[in-house]
Amino acid sequence: MPSDGEPAVFPVQAAPQCILCPICFGKTYRHDKTLRRFRHSYAWHIGTLWIELEVRRQRCKNCNYTFTYDYDLGLVRSSTLAYRLQIVDHCHGRAISDVAREFGLPYTTVERWFYTYAPK
Ligand SMILES: [Zn+2]
Repeated sequence: MPSDGEPAVFPVQAAPQCILCPICFGKTYRHDKTLRRFRHSYAWHIGTLWIELEVRRQRCKNCNYTFTYDYDLGLVRSSTLAYRLQIVDHCHGRAISDVAREFGLPYTTVERWFYTYAPK
């Protein structure tokens, strides 16, 4: 349990997997990695739940294309797609400014997410 305002961070380790090049579908190798934290969910009485995982830069052995592999989590800046959709869900029938305040997010961020995902 987090205390003293420390964020609730859950380390995540991905199983080894074969990551293919999105351009030519060739085999890739890990070129670089960075340990990063992403907002992933929200729980009452705890607050934002973060995941911490190794984000990999992969390079294609065939065409040299280098890309960030995001495990299909929709990683953008410091959030996962699941988190952004959860926040947008909270916006229905409420002012975006209320939601932004409640979740401790910048208004412009919540607004951008709302207009990106709400139409869907
Ligand atoms: Zn390739």
